[in-house]
Amino acid sequence: MGKAIAIDGPSASGKSSVSKGVAAELGFIYVDSGALYRGVTWQAIRKGVDPKDAAAVLEAMHSADWAFFVKNGAAIFSVDGDVPVQELREKDVREAVARVAAIPEVRKFVVESLRSLENFGSLVMEGRDIGTVVFPDSPHKFYLDADPEERAMRRYRELVAAGEDEKAHEVMESLKKRDQIDATRKADPLVVAPGAQVIDSTSMTLEEVIQTVIDAVRRKA
Ligand code: C5P
Repeated sequence: MGKAIAIDGPSASGKSSVSKGVAAELGFIYVDSGALYRGVTWQAIRKGVDPKDAAAVLEAMHSADWAFFVKNGAAIFSVDGDVPVQELREKDVREAVARVAAIPEVRKFVVESLRSLENFGSLVMEGRDIGTVVFPDSPHKFYLDADPEERAMRRYRELVAAGEDEKAHEVMESLKKRDQIDATRKADPLVVAPGAQVIDSTSMTLEEVIQTVIDAVRRKA
């Protein structure tokens, strides 16, 4: 069995860039667990389902054909033969995903799918519950954090770079709302996993954070 490095934290805490950097340097497979929650949300929306209708979301999820594979060092999925990437970042998905991810049966499906990826090899997986629920026995758990203003600013820059016309204060509001849903939901809320190393990246460079994670992993190897 390979290693599973768990990188959790709130939205825009730098998880994606850090996880991709760590995976590239160690030759591990990068896994974005949020993409799968977004995928379930996207599948429901494109089937015409209201994301607030949990039963209909589950029907859309269970009746779809999901497949997982590795491409360019990252684990990705197809749903009914399509591989959504950009679609997962769209506003309708972004605004509904925290609610969909709070449905316990959605979480069960996603957690089981994520665990099955260990068959592909050693993983660097980013998310909200990787160290607490998906791989609680991993010795390599990290919780990335940064001040809310810094996180909102990072997300805003990302959205502007992607050509999205969002206002900075709206990004801050939407981030706060998502943080609140993620941290207070009943099913697997975002918390620091027991034994996780907390890294506050507010005033660290990306390279420094990546190196901190790699050094800690190597110390325990
Ligand atoms: O990481 P990302 O922003 O793409 O995640 C989208 C949403 O998916 C989060 O706001 C959260 O509601 C949910 N999520 C989760 N558990 C994870 C990863 C993401 O609940 N492990």
